[in-house]
Amino acid sequence: MSRYTGSKCRLCRRQGLKLLLKGPRCLSNKCAFEKRPFPPGPQRGGRRRVSSYGTQLREKQKVRFIYGITERQFNNYFARAIKLPGLPGETLLVLLEKRLDNVVFRLGLADSRSDARQMVRHGHYLINGKKASIPSLLVQKGDAITLSDKGKSNLKIKEITEEKGPANIPGWIEYNTETRQASLVSEPKRSDIEYDVQEKLIVEFYSR
Ligand code: SF4
Repeated sequence: MSRYTGSKCRLCRRQGLKLLLKGPRCLSNKCAFEKRPFPPGPQRGGRRRVSSYGTQLREKQKVRFIYGITERQFNNYFARAIKLPGLPGETLLVLLEKRLDNVVFRLGLADSRSDARQMVRHGHYLINGKKASIPSLLVQKGDAITLSDKGKSNLKIKEITEEKGPANIPGWIEYNTETRQASLVSEPKRSDIEYDVQEKLIVEFYSR
């Protein structure tokens, strides 16, 4: 299945919460969910009862939309998570956090994960000195992320790294402002993931 290319705001309205998929716009009064906090499409009166399957599916879709990945990729992450030690739901979230596009987003070098994905695809980053243009690449503990020559000349990245400096970096990533190098100092933990998700429901979805 190919990547979703429709309206991102529609996903928020369908999920009934702000998924923050559009960077600064999400925090402005232009946010479509703020203006129309109801599902897209024709409005039906009354409240609809959501089945337990519906609740589980919605939770899975929420996480999938947040990271902007396809159904097949999500299934693969879950299949991988259940083979690894630990709780499958938490392991799944940790795997998603370690994606290169997510790490770039967490570093504050992109407004959204989709912007981060584009920057990675355009070859703006290096991992341990080697070009890394695959957004799904999993960054490992100890890996160093630096800017490629192309990345260094990108105006937006330049503005962030030279003027403001990255902000709100999570504890599992270390950023050196002098060398402009980021590295994973530890594995992300469940407690580092701040958005509201009940991973138990995702596990239940796959256990049907
Ligand atoms: Fe969702 Fe609002 Fe951002 Fe659109 S602007 S993606 S509705 S949070």
